[in-house]
Amino acid sequence: MNVKPEELIYHRKNAWEQVNEETKQQILNLSEGYKQFLSNCKTERACVRQIINMAQMRGFLPINQCQSVEAGDKVIISSKGKVVALAVIGQQGLDEGISLIGSHTDAPRLDLKPHPLYQEHDLALFKTHYYGGIKKYQWLAIPLALHGVIYKADGQVVDVSIGDRPNDPVFTITDLLPHLAKDQMVKKLTEAVEGEQLNILIGGIPLSGGGKDKAVKLNVLKLLFENYGITEEDFISAELELVPAGPAHDVGLDRSMIGAYGQDDRVCVFTSLQAILEINNPKRTAVALFIDKEEIGSNGNTGMMGRFLQNAVSEIGIRMYQSFNEFTLYRVFEKSIALSADVTAAMDPNYEGVMEKMNAARLGGGVVVTKYTGAKGKYHTNDANAEYVAFIRKMLNQHNIIWQTGELGKVDQGGGGTIAYIIAELGFEVIDCGVPLLSMHAPMEIASKADVYECYKAYKNFFMA
Ligand code: MN
Ligand code: MN
Repeated sequence: MNVKPEELIYHRKNAWEQVNEETKQQILNLSEGYKQFLSNCKTERACVRQIINMAQMRGFLPINQCQSVEAGDKVIISSKGKVVALAVIGQQGLDEGISLIGSHTDAPRLDLKPHPLYQEHDLALFKTHYYGGIKKYQWLAIPLALHGVIYKADGQVVDVSIGDRPNDPVFTITDLLPHLAKDQMVKKLTEAVEGEQLNILIGGIPLSGGGKDKAVKLNVLKLLFENYGITEEDFISAELELVPAGPAHDVGLDRSMIGAYGQDDRVCVFTSLQAILEINNPKRTAVALFIDKEEIGSNGNTGMMGRFLQNAVSEIGIRMYQSFNEFTLYRVFEKSIALSADVTAAMDPNYEGVMEKMNAARLGGGVVVTKYTGAKGKYHTNDANAEYVAFIRKMLNQHNIIWQTGELGKVDQGGGGTIAYIIAELGFEVIDCGVPLLSMHAPMEIASKADVYECYKAYKNFFMA
């Protein structure tokens, strides 16, 4: 063997160094579409609506309109307006397994409580309960938009979206002025802002003759009734979410990055959506799954712990075979491969101490493959099988995709999880594969445009593998 020892070394790549002008243009084109998606889809419901719209424009049909399905068919399966799967039927039977890419549409936010509206010191406010893992102080003194649905007593639904159109008002949570923050400033970061202080400023004009202690609240109720026909009790059957207001931005003088709310995990939602919209005649049946509730532990009937995926694949199965039952379904899963499409932490120059530099993902280093997440000794992770890591590695290299490995921080620093372990429990081979982020879960998260592009390429080739 005539190998120079130098050649045996693994070299980390920078995606920007590998691209030519033509690819650079493709990267920029994709990121324009991505920014638009982020700006228009601030909630899980909005994502699902947009995914279904885009799929229908590309010829996907709702599965209940299909008597049977065959190779090449493109179908939509959705549930409760909050979860959706797109499938392209493969040339092989389901018994050879499917290829699944699962991402999540929900993102950390502030939800209104069932009784949100109150008045204090001549101001009207909304009470909230935060959703997912947030650092509370990050949500103060920034513009917020309100999105969601209200189901009225008669069952009629009202769609609410305030704060993201150019002339809309926005909302905010006040922060304490530094002049008076002497006591607050010595508190621990986890205690400096309490959950019950995340109250949204929504009004200040009293209704004339409304009474001293409730005139401002009454004026808000009057406005809500005039604009939406709702009463205070209607908040009980509402899902209203406060999210950072405003569109996605280019970041940096070189515009190499995107800064926006909700990139965990809408970056993987968008890239896997784009991938499945563009493929034709895959070998295995390709399924892009867009799930909800990941940020609160995947519980609920629209979360990964629910039965949506099982039902969705069964909907396809019963349209392909004479008999298709639960055992057949799990035999399909046993032969199936999956990517848990989720973001991971990128090395942050300001906080390098929480990462282990040999194994941390870098912004611009390409799509990230993460064998395990978890915490405290790989607890709560499926820890992908080496055989499957080898399969993914080969697929990525074959298609000249710039990729890297990652892990969620150095050992015993903290950790986290994705939907990978739940997919693994069904029998799939599965590994985490997605985009590295800076400021994950912050109101503005940062991704590299090059990584978004490599992720999209990886997903597309995975479906066609
Ligand atoms: Mn995520
Ligand atoms: Mn997350």
